[in-house]
Amino acid sequence: MRVYSMQTIPDNDLSAGILGVIVGDALGLPVQFEEREERDIKPVTEMIGYGVFNVPSGSWSDDSSLTLCLVDALTKVSPHQRQQFLQQLGQNFCQWLDNGYLTPFGYAYDVGGATYKAVSRLQKGVSPLESGSKKEYDNGNGSLMRILPLAYYYQQFSPEELINLTHEVGSITHGHLRANIACGIYITIAVQLLQGKSPHQAYTDSLKQINTLYSKPIYQQELAYYHRILAGNIQDRSRDEIKSTGYVVDTLEASLWCLLTTNNYEEAVLKAGNLEKNTDTVGAVTGGLAGIYYGLKNIPEHWLSQIQKLDEIIDLMGLWDSVMQTT
Ligand SMILES: [Mg+2]
Repeated sequence: MRVYSMQTIPDNDLSAGILGVIVGDALGLPVQFEEREERDIKPVTEMIGYGVFNVPSGSWSDDSSLTLCLVDALTKVSPHQRQQFLQQLGQNFCQWLDNGYLTPFGYAYDVGGATYKAVSRLQKGVSPLESGSKKEYDNGNGSLMRILPLAYYYQQFSPEELINLTHEVGSITHGHLRANIACGIYITIAVQLLQGKSPHQAYTDSLKQINTLYSKPIYQQELAYYHRILAGNIQDRSRDEIKSTGYVVDTLEASLWCLLTTNNYEEAVLKAGNLEKNTDTVGAVTGGLAGIYYGLKNIPEHWLSQIQKLDEIIDLMGLWDSVMQTT
């Protein structure tokens, strides 16, 4: 294994987005589940350790593990080979839950309820196309938090194909249309950022595309749950109007709000970490977009250097980059 210094981390969009997720997750993890009043009294300003899961600073959770499981699957099977790819991803999720695959300390922690149920079904041989719950109650943010790697495939798939892939990958754990649409909106915005647009431009331009991609009648009822995002002015909401729970609609709203009301990576993920409750996931979802836009150099070095197993993450990113270059 190669040991990286901060200066030798490949400075590209892949590293910026994925490390953006991981740093945002690690920053918010120690204060997960806490109330906003606690954050107002004692705000998160730095990467800290030994919070709710009693793990050292720089520890990342299920958000990052499952994102890396997706990256790992993408290095092994082309997403164009849909069945085999979904099978590989399902196997990775089982390995994560059973054996702590792609975790900081060799065991899975911070496992969400819907994800646990879905992976348990995969372990029993249920198809990845059928494993995720389609119940309305199971619309947590567990698919949204791990979906970002698919955005990097926008040149290989049409927008419609990318949305279909996004829905299928999301559905492995979260099969309801509402969670699917959250992933679709997020990926659409991430693609705009990858194309070099500012957060505000990416948000505005995505709305037109989202309305087209989700114009079929089957989507209309569920798309309505995103009306505050689709209105095009989520950034104008006050902090009191932004919830940061594990509900997928809240998480997407909060993350876009954090991105659109700040001016650099650090500000964006600190704003996420100082909301409430699901701070690791809002940090991860915000951090992915902020990482892509502001770039690796804008992620504070003293945060990156604390990330657990950074060398292994960078190796996996390098492998993914080389696989993408050859396909
Ligand atoms: Mg987590």
